[in-house]
Amino acid sequence: MTDIPYKIYLSESDLPKYWYNVRADMKNKPAPLLNPQTHKPCTEEELSKIFCSELAKQELNETDRFIEIPTEVRDFYKMYRPAPLTRAYCLEKKLGTPAKIYYKFEGNNTSGSHKLNSAIAQAYYAKKQGLKGVTTETGAGQWGTAMAMACAYLDLDCIVYQVRCSYEQKPHRREVIRTYGARAIPSPSMETEVGRKINAEFPGCTGSLGCAISEAVETATKKPGYRYVLGSVLSQVLLHQTIIGLEAKAAMDKYGIKPDVIIGCAGGGSNLGGLISPFMGEKLRGEADYEFIAVEPASCPSLTRGIYAYDYCDTGCVCPLQKMYTLGSSFMPSANHSGGLRYHGMSSILSQLYDDGLMQARSVSQTDVFAAAELFCRAEGTLPAPESSHAIKVAIDEALKCKETGEAKTILFGLTGTGYFDMKAYAAFNDGTMSDYIPTDEEIQKSIAKIPQI
Ligand SMILES: *Cc1c(COP(=O)(O)O)cnc(C)c1O
Repeated sequence: MTDIPYKIYLSESDLPKYWYNVRADMKNKPAPLLNPQTHKPCTEEELSKIFCSELAKQELNETDRFIEIPTEVRDFYKMYRPAPLTRAYCLEKKLGTPAKIYYKFEGNNTSGSHKLNSAIAQAYYAKKQGLKGVTTETGAGQWGTAMAMACAYLDLDCIVYQVRCSYEQKPHRREVIRTYGARAIPSPSMETEVGRKINAEFPGCTGSLGCAISEAVETATKKPGYRYVLGSVLSQVLLHQTIIGLEAKAAMDKYGIKPDVIIGCAGGGSNLGGLISPFMGEKLRGEADYEFIAVEPASCPSLTRGIYAYDYCDTGCVCPLQKMYTLGSSFMPSANHSGGLRYHGMSSILSQLYDDGLMQARSVSQTDVFAAAELFCRAEGTLPAPESSHAIKVAIDEALKCKETGEAKTILFGLTGTGYFDMKAYAAFNDGTMSDYIPTDEEIQKSIAKIPQI
């Protein structure tokens, strides 16, 4: 037997007081955001028209290594954090692997994912600025729920453009959003100029994140007292999510555990970036070495099959341009792909780290992901979100490699959320009707060809 408990808990007083800004330690900084009209780097003033002022500052801050977590945000965190770090003894046994597997679970709140970590921070800065409310988009629904929760707590209005196929497939998600007092609108809607345009151009369109973002930004910039908030991709979101990695590292340090491989699923990159940041910081400063693996769906493979270029963050091209690994903002992931991780681009921080060879990426297909989810929930109890199960899949692959080589590597992965609202996808898997859609090179080329030349 070993001294490491199944769950490593930190106490409330161990809750980090600062977020860690990994950009401060990056030699090659992510390329600046560009104004979509002038193609010049966005100023704080420009960004403040879309985002809350404090968040615009955080977005541009490449120098401060630590940014203080406001007391009010820390107090909210205390309702569901520190999140436990679990040693997956049962999964290890089931796999018969010498590897030691740990996961950081972020699903222990009603929104069911890590997204609440940034939602409360963004709502706090909106409230502090005296705003009436915020607008946002949601894909699978977790971000909309998280933002609705945070706004309810701080008494802010919240308008959520929910990707239409998710709005229709997940009536329970939108009901949770409504219960917390926010309004979910299926996107593309007829309430915005860009929504009307997309509906006219693509009748019956089931929507995409890029399109919902455009609608939310348009509403935020037209409605006095409102700003736009985003659940991933941006550097400010990744910053807030470093609470995941900071806690994970503190818990591991408590027992002198050092991970060899750190794995996370990658949609827009916020949970992965948040999980790896403190470890990446050590790697960048030459203090330690780790292997980092981003896992993305084969149906939306921005890191493994996209290109590194300036691109629009949204379909309507109203957001700043970001240099990132992208499939092109016109890329529409197959509707048969369940769960999130459907965004065409990737965090500029992770894109730069990946381009510099500091992080690897793998893509996995949907049915393999659900097979891993099934194995995991039967061994460890927790029903994982489909998104999180991408990380599970690669963690299991790595553990099975150790079984072959006899290496007892320490693996850490991010278990970003629970899958209670994804039972339609689980049903398709259980019924054997789930399919794997992998875009062809021609399809990807078509959307990549539309990336602006900058
Ligand atoms: C949104 C979400 C993700 C992906 O978003 P990132 O910004 O890439 O972290 C992963 N897992 C869950 C459960 C999510 O809700």
